[in-house]
Amino acid sequence: MNLFQISPPTRFDLRFSIAGIPVRVHPLFWLIALLLGSTSRSIWGVLIWLVVIFISILVHELGHAFAFRRFGQPSSIILHFSGGLTVPESVPWGGGYANVSLTPNQHIFISLAGPGAGFLLAVLALAVGAAIGGTIVPATILGIIPIPMILFSDGNNLLNQFFVSFLWVNIFWGLINLLPVIPLDGGNVCRYFLIQRDPLNGLRTSLWISVVIGALAAVGGFLLLDSIYMAFLFGMLAFQSFQLLQGIAGRF
Ligand SMILES: [Zn+2]
Repeated sequence: MNLFQISPPTRFDLRFSIAGIPVRVHPLFWLIALLLGSTSRSIWGVLIWLVVIFISILVHELGHAFAFRRFGQPSSIILHFSGGLTVPESVPWGGGYANVSLTPNQHIFISLAGPGAGFLLAVLALAVGAAIGGTIVPATILGIIPIPMILFSDGNNLLNQFFVSFLWVNIFWGLINLLPVIPLDGGNVCRYFLIQRDPLNGLRTSLWISVVIGALAAVGGFLLLDSIYMAFLFGMLAFQSFQLLQGIAGRF
């Protein structure tokens, strides 16, 4: 995801690197994760939720970062108040610095690599869950989209809570992220696909799709999922795309 501008570094940032990819975690990341998971009652429930969110978003962004690396573009990861962000970094070029110029298909691959990494993580969680004694059971999202779930019958509530939220976050948010709403990953896929097909009007078309699908997702999130967060997020993204449309209105 790439929703807002980058949060400036603070001295409370957590910094580390994975396989040479620098990661910075802004303190607001934990606060927003807590707010999203505030339905958990026990302190252990809240901790499990934080671990689930942290691992899931980190792996999603690592998917983008490794895809960037595949095309010769170094990047760094920031986890902040709107989730995660993988930022391409300039590479030394001649006497100065430059960014690698990526083709639309490479952009599409990089966008898909985030949700793709999340889906792989969900498969891995299913395998681990089954290996440690869980049973794979069918479940649905919104009562229509079938997804697999892991349940432990011996009354291990914390284990159940971990796996249910882990699978839910990686599968459900992976699918949400693939909606063609800019600047979500699906929005970027749609944008580069349409620009490639129609260089003149592709961007405009992808923004209109973003406005319509964003507005529908905002209403759907509120009515079907009871989620004020989704209503707010998608309402704002639809409005942002509409504003971008106004910005390019006079350009063609
Ligand atoms: Zn992403």
